[in-house]
Amino acid sequence: MFELPPYRKCPKCKAEAFGTLSVGGTVAEKRCAECRYSHGEILPDLDKRVVYLDQFAVSELYKIKTRTRRAGAPSEQFWQDCYAFANRAYLRQQVIFPFSNLHSDETIVFHSPEELRLAHEMFSGVTRFENSDSIARLQEWIFAEAYLHGEEPPSLSFNVDDVLSGDRNVWLPIYHIGVNSDFSMFAPGLRKSKATAEDSLKQLAEGWVKNRATFDQILKHELTSYGPAMRYALQEEVKRSYTAFASDDPSSVLDMSFGLQNRYKELAALFAKRAVPGKDVSTFLDWKGNEQQPAHKIFAYLMAALGWRVSSGQSPKLSAGILNDFTAIATYAPYVDAMFVDRQCASLLRQGRLRSKLNYRAHIFSMNNPNEFLHYLTALGDAASNEIRMFAHELYDAEL
Ligand SMILES: [Zn+2]
Repeated sequence: MFELPPYRKCPKCKAEAFGTLSVGGTVAEKRCAECRYSHGEILPDLDKRVVYLDQFAVSELYKIKTRTRRAGAPSEQFWQDCYAFANRAYLRQQVIFPFSNLHSDETIVFHSPEELRLAHEMFSGVTRFENSDSIARLQEWIFAEAYLHGEEPPSLSFNVDDVLSGDRNVWLPIYHIGVNSDFSMFAPGLRKSKATAEDSLKQLAEGWVKNRATFDQILKHELTSYGPAMRYALQEEVKRSYTAFASDDPSSVLDMSFGLQNRYKELAALFAKRAVPGKDVSTFLDWKGNEQQPAHKIFAYLMAALGWRVSSGQSPKLSAGILNDFTAIATYAPYVDAMFVDRQCASLLRQGRLRSKLNYRAHIFSMNNPNEFLHYLTALGDAASNEIRMFAHELYDAEL
């Protein structure tokens, strides 16, 4: 390791050689390149906002950063401003835009995995979101406990640090250490499930049209489907594992997933251990209280809003990507400060009942209100105290 500029006057030998060695947590290590005198400087406390950017936004920002954006592509000025304001707020230690497994799902299918890994590390700080399945599992577990105790569906607390791994409030390191995960090995399995998702969405849409389904009908169906959907997904997962084992194709065995089977087994073990008469994992899955599980509820409302658009002949865009977007919103919106999402999702969230019946912390932004997002990012950067700005300038060359 060596000292990085700017070089200040060394407190010991007075040479203009006192630079930054490293930044870790809330301490900057400084050292003199001449006499090797060193000390740590305590940095101010931070309270960073957390913003979820959808895959599309991350790609656009990365292209701005690497100057690989096609000249004349739409919204040029917006993405340039967006990058500048996001970067300013990020370097001033006011915000992070963490990476999530939902990003990697899309990443692998559509782009070079290495590039998009770099893209997501660009603004993640040293954090990433917990896996969306783990968050669903966490909520499910709390509901299972309430059910076992014979209580009402619980109100959850939504502390963003509960859904982040890594420390939100550390100063950014100056040597960037990448997370060496190679997502590309999972790609074939994902492609398959993406195609499956697209097929089932199409079937669903045909059903909505045929039955002239109303918002309320679809909502009720989705809300009450917690148990049936879990059982169905579980059966599918088991079926896929058997098929993979029976085949001679080693790669299909590598693509197998046991997530749901493990989740179910853990729940079953919990119920067996508590041994409450009349209650088991199956009666729990059909508990009406599960309609209040935050991720499940938000997802159900989004499906109902989408289904209603389909059945009333508005022909909204239907790609498997939208289920991914719904999952992201349903999972993270209660916890994060803001989300930049797909236009269609943002407009579904503005639909009457979704506005009045869903409570979540996140401000929702999209290409429908691009200037509001720029103002939001600008305000984040402006919120830094003078002391933080001075350090950010010194350490990362951030705008003073
Ligand atoms: Zn010195």
